[in-house]
Amino acid sequence: MATDTITIIALINPAVCAILATALLVFWNNQRQRSYIAVLSAAFAFLAAGFALQFLAVQSGGPALRLLANSLLMFGTATLVLGVLGRVERKPPLVRILAIVGATLAVYLWYLLIEPLTVARVVTINFGGGFLVLLLVAELAKTGSRKPVDRFLFWFFAAWGVQFFLRTVLAVLYEADEIADANFFATLYWATLTFSIAFFLLIFAVVIVAAIAVDLQEELRTESFTDPLSGLLNRRGFNKRLEEALNDARAKAMPLALVVADLDRFKEVNDRFGHAVGDSAIVSFSNCLRQVMGGEHVAGRMGGEEFAILLRGADIRMARLFAEGLRTNFAGLVIPGLPVGHTLTASFGVAVLQPGEDWEDLLKRADRALYRAKEEGRDRVVVCTHTDDGAVAADNKTGRRPLMRDGSSAAAQPGD
Ligand code: GH3
Ligand code: MG
Ligand code: MG
Repeated sequence: MATDTITIIALINPAVCAILATALLVFWNNQRQRSYIAVLSAAFAFLAAGFALQFLAVQSGGPALRLLANSLLMFGTATLVLGVLGRVERKPPLVRILAIVGATLAVYLWYLLIEPLTVARVVTINFGGGFLVLLLVAELAKTGSRKPVDRFLFWFFAAWGVQFFLRTVLAVLYEADEIADANFFATLYWATLTFSIAFFLLIFAVVIVAAIAVDLQEELRTESFTDPLSGLLNRRGFNKRLEEALNDARAKAMPLALVVADLDRFKEVNDRFGHAVGDSAIVSFSNCLRQVMGGEHVAGRMGGEEFAILLRGADIRMARLFAEGLRTNFAGLVIPGLPVGHTLTASFGVAVLQPGEDWEDLLKRADRALYRAKEEGRDRVVVCTHTDDGAVAADNKTGRRPLMRDGSSAAAQPGD
């Protein structure tokens, strides 16, 4: 091959890696909280330098340059492993990674200085890289993620790991002599090495960018369903979950209960002690709710100081008990910012899913019970019974809006 051609081919991988390192760095600058992107960028910077130096070293360099080039390649691969594991928030097996890098470089050094042997060095570095990638594959398998992008990455790295071994074994079988002599750049080994690396790097770049995009999308979706103050679902998120749970309960013929809550005389708290204390009461109630609720139920902040809790599998008795528990817990709570001895209360409405009812009707009936709890003097739980269903139906027929609270929560808070 002409020298120019060789140089151009040799520049492919340093160039691809440098471009990836730069692109990821720019990406990270906009996504500072995703530090694994910076790690991946560093990995590609190492690899770019490693590939460039390796070319120089094979052409004319001495042992020091060869060692530096191959160390950079090993560090780059190890850093890549760290970056990919960082994305899936998995603690990297640092000791094993360092052991592979250390052992590889030690063996490499042996065949560089003590018993110089090009073929052995080629095998050592490739197997070292292969072991690092397979270690990554083993770690990815442990995450058990079934997301398509994660599964693709898993199989992609599995293929990448295996090709290190396959390619090297084939090269040693068929080209051991050529690799060892001055015709290194004429070997098929060198050509397949260069192109397979470029090929894998490009696929990796596309997939990792797709993975980041999917992560971002998921994060945005979670954010759009979460209330930032309480960390609970917002109205939109809650309603969606309610609808899903209702369909699920219906399919499995399981009971489903809904509890709605509203803090009592909350406006007064804001007026007397300030908005920040009001916020702290909302947070206190949310924490209390989480504590009482346990893992399997769903809770949302529906607006202002109104909350809703979905109790899967709960009948009317269990739901009432739950609401009573929450009510007494909250009534005894010390709210940060309130004077000593000053506690708050909340009122609760409870309804259980009836045959043929949709989620909006269920929510309306629970709201209606809450309205009654307020009317009857607050700090209490009111359960919507079947008689109330008739009343709701009658309300709907006459077109009267039974739910004054809906409007008050959505619109009547201009002072917030
Ligand atoms: P009731 O016992 O009948 O529920 O009376 P209330 O004062 O609690 O009810 P009302 O709906 O009149 O007042 C709700 C207040 O909640 C009005 C609004 O200023 C306040 N609010 C709404 N959202 C927030 C918030 O995010 N933070 C704070 N601090 N206050 C809020
Ligand atoms: Mg209130
Ligand atoms: Mg209210």
